[in-house]
Amino acid sequence: MKRRVFLGAVGSMASLGTLAYTTRADDDALAVRIWLSEQAGRYDGVADRVRAFLARTLALERRRVEPTVGGTVSVSTEDAARLTSRGEWPLALASGRLGRRDIDPVSGVNLLVTDGGMRDAPTGYGAPHVASVGGARHIGRLESVDDLLGNDWIVPVTTAARTMHVLLHEVGHALGLAHRHGVAVRSGDAIVTTPMLSSYAWDPDFDPAPTQCGGAIPSTGGRERLLDFAFSACARRELAVGGRDGNRSETRHRAAD
Ligand SMILES: [Zn+2]
Repeated sequence: MKRRVFLGAVGSMASLGTLAYTTRADDDALAVRIWLSEQAGRYDGVADRVRAFLARTLALERRRVEPTVGGTVSVSTEDAARLTSRGEWPLALASGRLGRRDIDPVSGVNLLVTDGGMRDAPTGYGAPHVASVGGARHIGRLESVDDLLGNDWIVPVTTAARTMHVLLHEVGHALGLAHRHGVAVRSGDAIVTTPMLSSYAWDPDFDPAPTQCGGAIPSTGGRERLLDFAFSACARRELAVGGRDGNRSETRHRAAD
C-alpha cells in the first residue's frame, strides 16, 4: 500500500498517534470498533456480521477481542480506499478524539465499512489503527460465521466471502501486518490464500517474490481458488508481539502523564 500517499494526506501523524492511547488500562483486550457509512447502514445486520467475524478471527494468543459498534458516519463518498488514503476517515477519528465530532476512537482498530464497490481495486485501505472497506451490501447477505467457516475456515471464493476476506486484510494492516505476512499454498488442485495476501495470490501484477511467512506464491493458473480466514502462523506471531509492544507503550504514556 502507498503509505506516503496516506502520510501526505493526513499531514501530521501526531494526532493519529494519540489514537494508540485513547483507552486506559485496557488489560490485554484488543479494542476494535466498527462504524458504518450512512449508506452501509441501510443493510440489515452488517455491523453484527462484521463484529462476529472479527471476534472469531482476531481471537489470537489468548487476547480478548470484543469488537464494538461505533454507529453510522456521514462521509463524502462510499469509495472506502479513498476515505482512508486521502485522510477523511483518519481526520474524522482525530476530530472525534478531540471532542469535535461524535466519534469515539479506540486504541486498536477503527474500521469504517461503506457500500463501496468490490469489483475494482483498491476496495479498501488500512494503516496503523485505521481501516476502511466497501461491500456492505455483500456483507449483509453473508452467511453467519459458524455457517461460513465450518471447522477448517477455508471457503470458496464468492463476492460476499471475498468482501469479508478483504475486510480482514485491511484490519490486518491496521494491526501492523503487511502483505509479506500472507501465505498462499497449493492444496490438492486448489490455491489457498490467507488474509494478508488474499486475492493478490492470483493477481498477475502482484510481485510473486517469496513472502516472509510462506515462501513463493504458487502459480494459480486454472486452479480452484480458496480463501483461508485464519491469519498465517507468522502473522499471528507478529500480532502477539505487536500487542505486547502496544501495551508497553501505553504504560509508558501513562507514566509520563
Ligand atoms: Zn494490502
